[in-house]
Amino acid sequence: MKYIPTIGLEIHTELNTDSKMFCSCKNNSLEPRANVNICPVCMGHPGVLPVINGEAVKKVVKTGIALNCKIAKDSRFERKNYFYPDLPKGYQISQYALPLCENGFLEINRRKIGITRIHLEEEAAKLIHQKDGTLVDFNRAGIPLMELVTEPDITSGEEAHNFARELQLILRYLGVSSADMEKGQMRVEVNVSLRTGEKLGTKVEIKNLNSFRTIKKALEYEIVRQTEVLESGNKVIHETRGWDDKKQITVSQRSKEEAHDYRYFPEPDLPPLELSDDYISTIRCQIPELPHNKRIRFKQEYFLKDEDIEIFVFNKDLGEYFEQVVSEFQVWLEDKNNKEVGEKEYKDLAQSASNYILTDLSGLLNGMSVEDKNFRITAENFAEFISILYKKEITSKIAKIVLKEMFEKGSDPSDVIDEKGLNQVENEQELEQIVSDIISSNLRAVDDYKNGKENALQFLIGQAMAKTKGRAKPDILEKLFTKLLN
Ligand code: ADP
Ligand code: ZN
Ligand code: MG
Repeated sequence: MKYIPTIGLEIHTELNTDSKMFCSCKNNSLEPRANVNICPVCMGHPGVLPVINGEAVKKVVKTGIALNCKIAKDSRFERKNYFYPDLPKGYQISQYALPLCENGFLEINRRKIGITRIHLEEEAAKLIHQKDGTLVDFNRAGIPLMELVTEPDITSGEEAHNFARELQLILRYLGVSSADMEKGQMRVEVNVSLRTGEKLGTKVEIKNLNSFRTIKKALEYEIVRQTEVLESGNKVIHETRGWDDKKQITVSQRSKEEAHDYRYFPEPDLPPLELSDDYISTIRCQIPELPHNKRIRFKQEYFLKDEDIEIFVFNKDLGEYFEQVVSEFQVWLEDKNNKEVGEKEYKDLAQSASNYILTDLSGLLNGMSVEDKNFRITAENFAEFISILYKKEITSKIAKIVLKEMFEKGSDPSDVIDEKGLNQVENEQELEQIVSDIISSNLRAVDDYKNGKENALQFLIGQAMAKTKGRAKPDILEKLFTKLLN
């Protein structure tokens, strides 16, 4: 391609603290009743004093550490001055010259995407536009907002999409935000330009992208549009564009010819934010295993397919359930004290547990979480279920019946098998009777078999299997048919 796409992201995330950024009002951006979580501080009344929410600072520092940033031991809050009806004070308390976190990176498919900075600021109120005017809901005003800015290191819509998705996953692992894009808890603005050499081209900023899919689509659309502008000998205009979801295009919103002057200055009502080494290292110790490391560990410990690992990493609760099930096998195998066999069995059992969790169990769950109190299959019972299957004590067809019963009643798999009489028919005499019945009632297939048609035997085995309601071992049936037919 002649033009190289250059993309940088600006991502705002609402932090899930109990209270707002500078007052003790409840932090709940989803509160349905308007203007209930408000006070003189977040309403911008004169003479009030803000107080820094320590929990919010902690959450930004946590994010910064997880994203390999340098954490500032000395940072400042500043006033960003502008007028808008959603901003009662006439300024937003933000960070400018000295942000909390700088110079980090996030690796996406082995490419390091630089993170310029992460800072803390406050959310504005919500404007509700109606036919005859606009209403303001201040519940959202003053909610802690984290802004992350990347370097222009991203080169495609796909990569921007993957970055945003991975970031969301990390924020959820860290427990700093639900980061739900549809609910506006995570908002992604993209900056995109084209270049031919080292020098960066004129960028366009795209706003109101409310899903991962639209980030990718809007960028792909914009890259084509800018290519056409340049190819026709024109210049890209420095502007803000919006995504029109109906028409699936970007549209010009306003040109950026003049830079805003926000007249930033240090917030006089707040002290500098000073963090000790101890404070930072304590937070460092609280960082859980992150998605990237989890992928590597799942591969090394359980030898699963990448696609399956991805599902367990994305659905953290399902991944944790899988690990609990596997740890039950460990106990079981340690009892047997046989290392050689142990490793192969362990691998097979883990694979089988993963398969059953991702297919049959997920089907039964139908969107319900394994953490829901109505989910009643203990990890121990699930592990037992998988080992019964592994020992070929039931067929995969019977397994479905057993699992469904376990899911509905929370029962132990061996109890289900006993109660429902699902035990394998092992008595060869009993089976031989069934086989000979099938032979005498399927003479046509018997003829076919004798004439060398291999699938005739499979048909006969299938008939016998149906007769035993799936409780016979296929290999024993095959042995008996071959014996009686020859
Ligand atoms: P502005 O002053 O317009 O806010 P910044 O320099 O603060 O611009 O950058 C904002 C975002 O735009 C960052 O994510 C940055 O990586 C990205 N960016 C900067 N220049 C370009 C460019 N020429 N093309 C694409 N993205 C860019
Ligand atoms: Zn308040
Ligand atoms: Mg900027």
